[in-house]
This record gives sequence, C-alpha cells and structure tokens, in this order.
Amino acid sequence: MAKHTYQTEIGQLLHLMTHSLYSNKEIFIRELVSNASDALDKFNYFYLTDEKYKSEDWKPGVFITLDKEDNSITIGDNGIGMNEEDLMNNLGTIAKSGTKAFMENLTGDAKKDSNLIGQFGVGFYSVFMVASIVDVITKKAGEEQAYKFTSDGSGEFDITPVTKESHGTVIYIKLKDDQKEFTSPWRIKEIVKKYSNHIAYPITLNFKEEESTGEGEEKKTELVNKSEQINAAKALWTMSKSELTKEDYIEFYKSISHGDNEPLAYLHNKAEGVNEYTTLFYIPKRAPMDMFRAEWESGVKLYVKRVFITDSNKELLPPYLRFVKGVIDSSDLPLNVSRELLQENRILANIKQGSTKKILQTIAKLDGEDKDTFTKEYNRLIKEGIYTDYTNKELLLDIVRYKSSTTDGMVSFADYISRGNSEKKEIYYIIAKDEAIAKSSPLLESYKSAGLEVLIMDDYEVDEIVTPVITEYKGWKLKDISTIEAPNAKTKEEQEAINESVKPLLEKIKEILGESVKDVKASSRLIDSPSCVVKDSSDPMAGMAHIFRQMGQDVPATPLILEINPEHEIIKKLDSINDKDMFEDMAWILFDNAKLSEGLDIEDKASYAKRVARVAVKAL
Ligand code: ADP
Repeated sequence: MAKHTYQTEIGQLLHLMTHSLYSNKEIFIRELVSNASDALDKFNYFYLTDEKYKSEDWKPGVFITLDKEDNSITIGDNGIGMNEEDLMNNLGTIAKSGTKAFMENLTGDAKKDSNLIGQFGVGFYSVFMVASIVDVITKKAGEEQAYKFTSDGSGEFDITPVTKESHGTVIYIKLKDDQKEFTSPWRIKEIVKKYSNHIAYPITLNFKEEESTGEGEEKKTELVNKSEQINAAKALWTMSKSELTKEDYIEFYKSISHGDNEPLAYLHNKAEGVNEYTTLFYIPKRAPMDMFRAEWESGVKLYVKRVFITDSNKELLPPYLRFVKGVIDSSDLPLNVSRELLQENRILANIKQGSTKKILQTIAKLDGEDKDTFTKEYNRLIKEGIYTDYTNKELLLDIVRYKSSTTDGMVSFADYISRGNSEKKEIYYIIAKDEAIAKSSPLLESYKSAGLEVLIMDDYEVDEIVTPVITEYKGWKLKDISTIEAPNAKTKEEQEAINESVKPLLEKIKEILGESVKDVKASSRLIDSPSCVVKDSSDPMAGMAHIFRQMGQDVPATPLILEINPEHEIIKKLDSINDKDMFEDMAWILFDNAKLSEGLDIEDKASYAKRVARVAVKAL
C-alpha cells in the first residue's frame, strides 16, 4: 500500500469540504454523476473510432447502489477509467488552477460557496461533505491493472493495486453517521431528477425494499432487490423543441453550469441545408469568473452525431462570445475529426458563423431588465466584438450601449439617432477616464447649451481603441467632440475678429507654454470654463496613437491645442495684469487645469502645486 500526502492546497480544500460547507450537500451526486458521464463520453469516442474496442458489448451507464445497513452509497460507471498516474494527477497531488480560484472566491456564505464547487472543477472533493471514507476503484480502458484510491478526507490518501474486471470507475462512499438520507431511494431519485435528468446515459438505481409476502399467519416482510432507471437519459438538445418546456431547458442549464442559477436566455436551433447541425446555447446571468483571464475556458461542447468530441476548443465560437455555454452537435463532421485541425475545418467554420449570428440576434432581442443585465455583464465583450468581427458589425452596434450626457442609464445608437439632428446625421461622443470627468468636461458646455446629446464613453482603455473603428451607424457619422468644431462655432470672420482682439494675449501665453502646446486659440465652445484643451483634428495621429501604443510602439503624446474663453472673468483680468510672474503662473494654471478637467495627466505636478499656492497668496 502506498501512502501519499495531498498537496497543501487540496488539503485546505478538503478541510473546508469536511468542516465548513454544510449547505446543499446533495450536489456531490450531481458532481460524481457528471464525472461519470464525462468518462462515458470519453470511452464512447474510442469505442466508435478505435478498432480495439469494436468487439466489446458495451452498454454505457451510471449505476448507483444504496445500502442502508452499511450506510453507504456507491456510484459506478463503465467509462474510460483511470490508471495510477491519472489517480495521482486528478484526485491526489496536483491541484488544478481551479482549486486556488475556488478558495479565493469563497464568500463565507455556505450556500453560495457550495454553488461554486462545480464551477471551478473541484467537484470530486465535494464527496467529503458527506463521506467518512471514499474508495475509488478504477481501471483504465485498454490497461490490465486496476487501482484503489482510499481517503478519509484528511491529509493523506492511499493507492493500491486491486483487481477489477472491466474498465470504468466505482466510487464507494461510506456515509457519515448523520448523512443517512443519501441511502433513501426517493431522495436519490429526487436529486437525480433535479440535476442529472438529461445526461445522455441511463442512470440505474439499485436498492432494497421491504415487501410483504404471504397471508395471515404466514405473512412476513422481506427485503427485495429493486433496480430502476431514474433519469430520462436523452441528450436534451436532440429532442425537438415541441417536446420541451422552459423548465426542461432551465434544468439542463443548471446541470451543465453546475449551479443553481437560471440563464438569462437560451436558444435551441436545428440547421438543415448545406450543413446539418443542432445547437443549444445559453447566456448566463452572471459573467463567468474567468472571462477576463487569459486562460479562460470554453463553455461549449462539440459533439458529432451525439458523440462527445471536445470541451476545450476555444474556436467553436468567436472569443468575444466566451461567456456562452452550450452544445454544438454536427451531423456532417466525421467522428474521427482531428481535434487539432478543427480550426481549419470548413464545416465547423460554417457552424461558427451561423451560431454567432443566431446568438447575436437573440441578444439583440433582449429588452427591459434582461437587456440591462446583459449590458452590465457583457458590454465590454460586445465592444471587443465590434473591434474583431467585421461581418457582424451591424448587429453588434445594435447591441452595444453607452452612457449619455442627456439621460440616465445606457442608450443605444438607435436611441441616439431617434432624437438626434437628422439633417446633420452626426453622433457625438466624448471619451474620458470616468463618467464624472466626462460630464464636467468644458468640451460638453456648448453641446449642453445647444441641446445636443453626447455619448459618454468612460470604459477608457476599451473605448479609446474600439470607438475609432466604428466610424458610422446607419449613415450617421461618429464624431469625437475633442477633435471637432463646437456646435456654436462662430463664422470664420467672427472667429477671426475675436482672435484678433485677444491676439497679444494669445501670443504671450503661447510664448510661455512653448513646446507644450501646438497652439493657443480663442474659443467659442466654452461657456462656464476659462479654458479647455482639444486635439488637432488635422493631426493624423489623433485617435490612432493609442492603437500604436497598444501594439507596443513608442508614440509621442498627441500635441494639444489650448483654447481660452475671452468672455471669462479670469481671461479678462489676465489681459490687464502687470505682474509678470503672476501672468506666467496663470498661463500654466489655465493649461494644466484644462488638462485635469479632461482627466489627463499634467507633467510637472510639483510646479503646478507651487503656482497655485503663489497665486493664492497674492489673491489673499
Ligand atoms: P472536473 O470534473 O471539473 O475536472 P473533478 O474534481 O470532479 O473536476 O474531477 C477531477 C478529474 O478526475 C476529472 O477531470 C477526471 O479526469 C477524473 N475523474 C473523476 N471522476 C472520474 C470518473 N468517474 N471516471 C474517470 N475519470 C474521473
């Protein structure tokens, strides 16, 4: 017998399972049945593609046996099985990335926490919520030697060679004294119906039931062996829509998402024509935890004629739809399709395209609270889609939402153009580091007074890159208000007259700011603020610089134009002061304040502070 010590992280996890997670213990059945089903899926593939197994008379199934006297439950399958190395890797020493993530995401609320178990791939260990001892007896298909893994959920486990006739895994669970409910047939039936009704293989329940026989004096009760199939055993997506209720879809979602939440939406389609395939997709209410991690996992499983092929292919849908869960089942792909070459497969490319369109159409139809939930969780991914998926740009532009300068909540481009100026056909937007900065930006003043709506784009890193590629929506041009003339712009002549009147002032300021500004101009866009900065619209790098920076190239900061408001008190007074130092301080303050109010960085913060202090002293 070989004794082993669990890796520290697993040890901690087990401690948690045995001591803290006391709510919703029944889910250990869902997790073990789901593992059994995966093991059957894996063997099924070899059975159908590998000559070696063709002669075997294989009837795939999951077998649950209850023993009241022994206070135990046994869950078996005739799937792929595990060898010694698999046991060590999967159940023993090597903690998967999910282990750590699971622990980090614990909330302390036992119910919520037990809901997390399946989502982080630590399902097997949930058995220790109910078990005092667990034996995993298993034999890998195609190998001679079987093994037994034994653990009581403390720091150590044993692995011993044993004999077992056929491939597959049998998990014997000796229940803790207070977990007798899991030897009750009706309880197990209830749990299986709830979580595992639509796994594709039959689940058979074996148990003993008291039965009375004989009459009168002869009457006695005896224990009779019963055996019943307790699930529907039909892959849900293979059934026709008319046979299925909303509840069926929701239950299936719960089983594939290992959770207790309802989906935000689902879509079930059968494509017939050039390619024949069935898809069942779900949009979760909450974004998966790994959505913004580089090593996110695919939520979509690929089947070929109901045979499981892979659940780790990230190319089945475009990456920006990585929150979608579900199934693609193709009738045209060959069973022995190479998993490595799936990317280059034409049939799969067609399926991907068709599925993407269908999913986006479903999303576009969401409204009310559902739409708000969607936006809250996934707006960023839709923007990623706008940037990467040119084919579906129109649909994506219908779905994306932005904040607005004139209304609360999130608005669509369609909302915007329904209230915009349909002669000019322009969609105005401002990109800023946060909403407060955008809303108090001096650039907005003239739009406010002209009654024009401006979209507020405050998902700065993303919007800076994505918005420039949008260019237009239904013929309306998108305009960054920091690069265009203000709506209340004066005529050329008027503007020149104003410039002329403050020309000496502008020149003095420009001399002081030197290389730091591209130009200093009199502004007609300002109403309440003394100054603002704008980008030079003729500068080809404006709006592009961040893209080059993203690609790792060194790009000089876009030169800014300082605009000052000749009508403003400060500017009028500035024009008439004689104190040279004061003038210089004020010129810099006007420039730095303008940058700060756009959320931009100022280069020399120490000098800025000193200037403000000097001016304040003089004013006091
Ligand atoms: P997950 O199933 O999410 O990977 P688990 O902790 O439930 O996480 O299982 C760990 C691994 O152990 C599985 O990925 C699988 O490789 C293996 N395993 C568990 N149960 C079985 C089984 N009944 N037959 C074959 N392999 C199994």
